[in-house]
Amino acid sequence: MDDADRMLQFIDASPSPFHACATAAAMLTADGFVEVDERDAWPDAPGRYVLRRGGSLVAWSTAASSAAHDPFRVVGAHTDSPNLRLKQHHDRTLDGARVVALEPYGGPLLGTWLDRDLGVAGRVVLRDGSERLVHVDEPVLRVPNLAIHLDRETSSPDKQRHLDGVWGLQGRGEARSFLSWLGEREGFAADDVLGFELMTTDTQPSARTGVDGALLAAPRLDNQATCFAGVRAMLAADEVPDVRPVLVMFDHEEVGSTSERGAQSDLLATVLERVVLAAGGTRDDLHRAVAASICASGDMAHATHPNRPDRHEPLHRIELGGGPVLKVNQNLRYATDARGTAVFAQACEQAGVPLQRYVHRADLPCGSTIGPISAARTGMTTVDVGAPQLAMHSAREVMAAADVDHYAAALTAFLAPA
Ligand code: ZN
Repeated sequence: MDDADRMLQFIDASPSPFHACATAAAMLTADGFVEVDERDAWPDAPGRYVLRRGGSLVAWSTAASSAAHDPFRVVGAHTDSPNLRLKQHHDRTLDGARVVALEPYGGPLLGTWLDRDLGVAGRVVLRDGSERLVHVDEPVLRVPNLAIHLDRETSSPDKQRHLDGVWGLQGRGEARSFLSWLGEREGFAADDVLGFELMTTDTQPSARTGVDGALLAAPRLDNQATCFAGVRAMLAADEVPDVRPVLVMFDHEEVGSTSERGAQSDLLATVLERVVLAAGGTRDDLHRAVAASICASGDMAHATHPNRPDRHEPLHRIELGGGPVLKVNQNLRYATDARGTAVFAQACEQAGVPLQRYVHRADLPCGSTIGPISAARTGMTTVDVGAPQLAMHSAREVMAAADVDHYAAALTAFLAPA
């Protein structure tokens, strides 16, 4: 099994942001990271730690020789992906079909979610205050397409009217609610569920495709491919002299990052502050450290589409398998500046991997990332990077197996400069 296979396992085990954090935390703690609860007193011994806040995670590593004002090297990622989520009141029946009301989270390519075998995942909070992760990895829901005979225009689905999922037939008996079915499966009573964040998830396992398995087809490559590469880099960057490696994985990037755990939150700034204070540092040490720190904000990049090369900037073609991507935008949809670019280019040289440079067509609106948000929040030099993929925001996306290694190697060198 190589890193590409391990990444596919990571993705299949992580159907929601909460699961992505659980999977990452399990990999980190298995290698000696200690999980910290931010409600507790901060550990003052140097070492390797990880903290979760809902669907977000921060991991950091400090050596015994670290000074309180040593800079941080931060790899950023996001744990959420566009999908279809359950509405609060979601049970309805129509002409014998039992239906669960769904709505889009973020900007999914809606058509790709139709006619798929969907399971359900997320978290529920119970009456006793406890929180459960749930994951039914079986095809229970399906959003059927409309037959072409009933819609000759094959227009794209309407977000309010066309996305509910069928999950059974009404029959004669008492109609069970979806939550009571889920509770029976997952071991809780529906009456005890006071809050939930539940989402659908494609049950088709990730796969190696193409000749020799050179391609990877999987859900959530944007941006769990970065989460995986970031965890690999964090595991490799142990006892680094003079810099302190940090991995931050934010929830809610796909919906603007404004929440208690998104990139606009205090999460990263608070963790860095507590790390400095616990090392015996002052507020001045914190500001010295941040001023010298650099963040590589990782998010997936658009490889040149073989059927639509016209949608790409002709001087900035991006190859699948061609190595990590530096993302530059003059209007700061990406945070990349010359200083951050130089540091990341050096990391790629150190890792021995090629670097591709991406610029969006000037006549198309460019998507954004956590890069500019996190840079503004922390004041840290930030460089937007990624790995190339196709079909971003599809229920099933594509990247090259070789880029998993390239990406992890570049992020490792970035966290642990020679
Ligand atoms: Zn993304």
